[in-house]
Amino acid sequence: MNYHLILTEKCNLRCKYCYEKSMAEFDNGLGKKWEYDNETPFDSEVEIKKIKNFVKPTDRLIFYGGEPLVMSKKIKEIMNNLDSKFGIQTNGLLLKRLPFEYIKKIDKMLISIDGEEERTDFNRGKGTYNLVLKNLKKLRSLGYNGEVVARMTLNFPDVFRQVKSIISLIDEKVFNSVHWQIDAGFYKFDFDKIKFTKFVEEYNNEITKLINFWVEKMHDGKVYKIYPFLGIFNRLVGYDKETRLPCGSGYKNFTINTSGKVSACPIMNSVKKFYCGDIEKGIQKEIIIEDLECQKCSVKDICGGRCIYWRDAKLWPPEGDELICNTIKHLIDSIRKKVPEIEKLLDEKIVKKEQFDFEKYFGPEIIP
Ligand code: SF4
Ligand code: SF4
Repeated sequence: MNYHLILTEKCNLRCKYCYEKSMAEFDNGLGKKWEYDNETPFDSEVEIKKIKNFVKPTDRLIFYGGEPLVMSKKIKEIMNNLDSKFGIQTNGLLLKRLPFEYIKKIDKMLISIDGEEERTDFNRGKGTYNLVLKNLKKLRSLGYNGEVVARMTLNFPDVFRQVKSIISLIDEKVFNSVHWQIDAGFYKFDFDKIKFTKFVEEYNNEITKLINFWVEKMHDGKVYKIYPFLGIFNRLVGYDKETRLPCGSGYKNFTINTSGKVSACPIMNSVKKFYCGDIEKGIQKEIIIEDLECQKCSVKDICGGRCIYWRDAKLWPPEGDELICNTIKHLIDSIRKKVPEIEKLLDEKIVKKEQFDFEKYFGPEIIP
C-alpha cells in the first residue's frame, strides 16, 4: 500500500497552475456540493506513534504537502521511527534540508519540473529549473540511486517538446522517468471552449509524435519510462489486469491528512465523502468512480475514469470534459495501434518484457 502523508499545506512556491489559479478562483461551488472537514489543521498534528502503528514495513509512506520539505524536521523524526519504505513529492528546491543519510532511504522521488528551463521558470518562478537540477545532480554525485520521476504539469500543448527535454535528462541519468497531467478540469473559471479545442488538437498531434518517438527508440532496445505510455500499454496487452483508476487512489493509494483521517487522494484530503477511514481504525471503505459516462465508455477499463476529483467535481461543462476524454481516447488508441509493432520487438527479443515494468500507485498519474 502507498500512503501520502500531508505534512503541511504550506508551500514555498507560487506556481501559475496551483497558487495563481486557486487565488483567481473565488468560489468553485464545491463548498455547496461537498462537505469539507473544518477540523484539519494547516500542519500535520498526527502523532508519529500512530503513523508507526498504521504503516507496515512493506508499505510506502510518501511525504507530501504543500511542500513537504518545509517540514524537514518532522520528516527526520518520522524516518527515525518507521521502518517502512519512503517516497516524497516535492518541488525539489529544499532538498538540501534533508541530510543525505535520510535522502538515501527515500526510494521514489517525484520532482515537479515542467520540461524546458523556459517553461519551468515561466510556471514556477525564475531560477527554479536550474536550482532543482543543481540539487538533483548533487544527490546523484553523492550516489543517490533511487527513482526520480519528473512530474510535469502541462498548461501548453507542446508535450512532445517538453517531454523530449526531460528525456535528455533521463539520458544524463538525472531523472529516471516522466509523467504529466494536463492542467484541465481542475478549476471552474478556466474553461475556454475555443482555446481548449485548439489545445486538444495540438496536444493530440504532439502525443502521436511522442508515441512514434517512443516506439522508434525501442528498435534500438531502449524503452523510456514514460508513465502514461507504460501504464496504458500494460493494460492493453493484459500485463496489468486491473481496470480501476490507474493512479490507485481509493484502493491502493491513500492519503493521511493533517488530522489523521485517511482519504482517497491528496487533492480532496479534507472532503468527507472521500474519507476511507482513519489511522487508528484503519481503512474501512474503498472509493471507486461511479460515473455513467465512464460506464458506457469504450476505453473505461484502460482509463478507469482519469481522476476521482475531476470526475466528481465536474467543474467544467460537459463539452469541456468531453474534450478531455477526447485526449484520453486518442492517447489510448494511438498506443493500441502500436501494440503489434511492440509485440514483434518483444518476440524478436529486441526489447524485454521487464523493460515495461513499473511500480504502480506511488504517485505518477497514468491518465493525464
Ligand atoms: S475517457 Fe472519459 S468517459 Fe471514458 S473512462 Fe475515461 S474519463 Fe470516463
Ligand atoms: S488522478 Fe486524481 S484521484 Fe488520482 S492521484 Fe491524481 S488527483 Fe488524485
